Order: sequence, then C-alpha cells, then structure tokens
Amino acid sequence: MSAFDELDLPPALLSAIAARGYTEPTPIQAGIIPHVLAGRDVIGQAQTGTGKTAAFALPLLARLDPAVAAPQVLILAPTRELAGQVAETCSAYAGGLPHAKVATIYGGAGYRDQLRALRQGATVVVGTPGRVMDHLRRGTLETGSLRCLVLDEADEMLRMGFIEDVEWILEQLPRDRQMALFSATMPGPIRSIAKRHLDDPIAVRPASPSTAATTVDQRCWFMRGCDKTEAVARMIEGEETDGVLVFTRTKAATTEVATALVARGIQAEVLNGDMPQERREAVVARFRAGGLDVLVATDVAARGLDVPRISHVINRDLPGDPETYIHRIGRTGRAGRSGAAISCVHPRERGFLRTIERRSGQPIAEMELPSAATINRRRGERFAARVLAQADGDLGQFEQLAASLIAEHGLDPVRAVAAMARLIHGSDELFVDEVPRTREPRRPAAGKREGRGDGARRQLDRSGLRFRLDVGHVHGARPGMIVGAIANELGLPGHAIGAIRIHDAYATVVLPEDLDRQ
Ligand code: AMP
Repeated sequence: MSAFDELDLPPALLSAIAARGYTEPTPIQAGIIPHVLAGRDVIGQAQTGTGKTAAFALPLLARLDPAVAAPQVLILAPTRELAGQVAETCSAYAGGLPHAKVATIYGGAGYRDQLRALRQGATVVVGTPGRVMDHLRRGTLETGSLRCLVLDEADEMLRMGFIEDVEWILEQLPRDRQMALFSATMPGPIRSIAKRHLDDPIAVRPASPSTAATTVDQRCWFMRGCDKTEAVARMIEGEETDGVLVFTRTKAATTEVATALVARGIQAEVLNGDMPQERREAVVARFRAGGLDVLVATDVAARGLDVPRISHVINRDLPGDPETYIHRIGRTGRAGRSGAAISCVHPRERGFLRTIERRSGQPIAEMELPSAATINRRRGERFAARVLAQADGDLGQFEQLAASLIAEHGLDPVRAVAAMARLIHGSDELFVDEVPRTREPRRPAAGKREGRGDGARRQLDRSGLRFRLDVGHVHGARPGMIVGAIANELGLPGHAIGAIRIHDAYATVVLPEDLDRQ
C-alpha cells in the first residue's frame, strides 16, 4: 500500500491526515482517492469502519474551487447521526482550507442554524434526504455550483425507504456533476441507480468487502441460567472494557438494560429514536469523551456511530439479518484496533448464528458467562480503587469524624469502614451469586413434561395453569432468575411468563395453557 504522500493531495490535507495519526491509506482510500481526484464517478463497496468517509472526503475537499462560495459538494447520508459524523470528519480535515466550509442539514433540528450555515458560504453540504429535499424545494440550497454528489450508505437509504427521495434529489442537480456512491451491499435498486446516474464509474471493492473486520473477536453465549439483561451486565462487569455498545431489538429493552446496568454502578445511557436529537448528540459526545461506560442502543439510533473507544459490541438481541450483525460489530475494532463482539443467542437461533458465521466469514466461539468469582473479584477491586483514590486526597471533616467515631465510641476500625461502605452501597450485597448452570435447554415433548430429563424440569408440578417450582426464598430465588430459567428451559418468550410468587421453600408461576404450542 502506498503512503498518503503518494496520493496527489494538497499539503493542508496531508497535515490534517498526519495530525490524526494516519500513516497509510486504507484499501478503500487507496482505491478511491486517485479516481475521485481525477474527476471520475466511483462506486465504493465498503462498510463503515473501512475508512470510506475519508476516501471521498479527502479528494472532494482537494477539488473545491476556492473562488466559489456556494455549495460545491453535496453528501447524502441515511441518518442524522451519520450525517453529523461525516460533517465532523469533513470539518476536521478541512481545518487548513479556509474555503472548505461544511454545513449539516438534517431533520429534527431547527432550520435557523442550517440556513445561516448555508448563507454563510458553505461549500460542502452534508444532509439527510428528507431535509435536503425541503431545502431544495424552498430554494434555500443553491445547486448551480454543485460539482459532486456523494451517496453514503446507499443500501441503508434503500432499507429506510429514502430511495425515491434520493432519485428526486438527483433529478434536481446539474447533469454534469461527479458522483460517488458508497454501499456495503449492492441490491438491485442500488445497482439500477448506479447504472442510470453514474457515468462510466470505477468500482472499488477492497478484498472481502462485506465481511467483518478480522480484528474483532466474536463470541456468543447460549442463554441458560439467567435472562439476557442479567447476562449482559455480567459480561460487562467480567470483561476488560473501554466503551461498550449494547444493541437491543426494541426501544423498551434499551431502557431495561440501561437501568439494570446503572443499578450495578455502571455508567450507562440509552440511545434510541424516542430521544430528541440534541439529547442524542449530547449522549454520544459523553460516550465519545469517556464520560459514559456503556451506550445501549437500537440499530436505527446507532447507525453510523463512529466512536473509536468502543472495545465491545454486545448484542443483547441478535439482529434480523446478517448484514446488520456485520454493521453492528463494525463499530468496534476500528482501523486496526482490536475489539470484541459478544452475542446472546437463544438455542433456537443456532441456525441463524451459522448463517452469520458463513456471511461474515469468521467463526463465533461459544463462551460461558464470567463466573461469580471473577465478577466479585472485579467488584472488590473497583471498590478498593475508589476508596484508595479518595484516601489519596483531602478528606476534610470526614477524617475527624472517623477519628471520633473510633475514639469516642470505641468502634473497631474495620467495622467503622465496613459500616460506611454499607451506608454508601445501600442494602444490596456487593457480591453476586453464581449463575445456575442448567443443561442446554430443550423443548419438552408433549405429555413428557414431568419425570424425564434433568432436575429443573422434574420440578415443574402442574396444577391447572399454575406451576410449582421447588425453589424459594431459602434457596435465594428471585423473580428474574425464575423468568430466565423458565424462558431458557422451555424456550418461552419472557412475556408469556405470568405471575411469579416466591414463598419460603417454593415458588409458583403462571404459564400459558397451550405451552407446547408456544
Ligand atoms: P469510516 O469507515 O469512514 O467510518 O472510518 C472508520 C475509522 O477509521 C474512523 O475512526 C477513522 O477515523 C479511521 N480511519 C480512516 N482512515 C484511516 C487511516 N488511513 N488510518 C487509520 N485510521 C483511519
């Protein structure tokens, strides 16, 4: 691979690249940059994480005409998040080019700032299709000087139903413009756009385009013993992590997971479509800066998220298709860093997991949850670290308070410290119990629910719709554990599990009558 200096980029851009610490172009950059610089139309078949943003941003910035203070480049991205990130990348590179002014226009934000940016001579406009259409209709986005259009994540725009808007926008732009199309996959409608709107394009598809980055260590945990939210929390506590991105299928689950994590003292926030744009941006900024350990997101909200410190992607729920899985895990292991991707898998999803493995071209190793001993050791270490950090600083009046507690009340120092720890920590225990390791769940056959197989199943004692389980308070049973065990054991979705009552020595749970058809 050549170094950046061999590409014909202006010195201001080369120093911006050097300032970011990049020494070599990525394959998509090496393949795309010379052609865009030469004015050719290009198709880049690359996904997020390959360096595709710089692949189009650098040569397009290089080609801006300093004499024209009007939009020259229009970049369309499927989501506000991605548009924001592309704009940020462009601005970062454009530092040394005074004529390269970037405006971002997307829905959900006010028009005023966007209009001001456009009027103040923006030369690069990044936006989402809907809002770009609005500005074109209102005449607030001038197209007379547009020389280049970029479609970023075109397959995603198709998936989100924006392709007609994109076609409409294409019709409004000057015919002789240059065009760059980026897409991780090339479904029919995208190929058709390429055929109709690109002029003799060069297609660049770096080796294994849509496969997962090899720097991501992929693992899966087959559900057993506890529910997925509890499992996610244990994974996060048990692994060496920096930033963690957890994906859930529903918005409701983002809140459930974040709440469970916060209850364990982990700094977690949700990122979902219910949040106003400003709040989402603030959360991502905090996460990026290290002020948050975990972001719990849905696919739509996290699309295009580019935060280099993400060390782990955790799929609480597997996505619906392998492409989305590959997109998700591409949020970690960015640009040569190593990363881990862990998925919670229901035994019924085993076949789908194999499909993902084939599609990503990488094995997904089975793992166990970190043991209670590991988690407890880490909790102990974290606790000690926090106390020691405090003890290092000025303790002010608390030091005196502690001294008088010990001296005046004759309190044993160990008990004094423990009492304070209990005060701070609340009534919950600091340490967790071992996750029960039941056998691999199997659906019981009709009529054979009792008296066969492992112990957990034998404990089901059916009386009408209420089932009795031989575990209760004395065994440390808690509702979450029972839901998890039943969901795994019978392959039931959590919502099918009814009221749970825990007594001292046993518990009851209401299950659907048509259990075998669930
Ligand atoms: P992208 O595929 O555009 O989302 O970029 C993925 C990540 O790679 C971003 O964090 C970029 O900052 C980083 N990156 C882009 N180009 C390079 C390069 N040549 N060397 C190292 N990192 C890069």
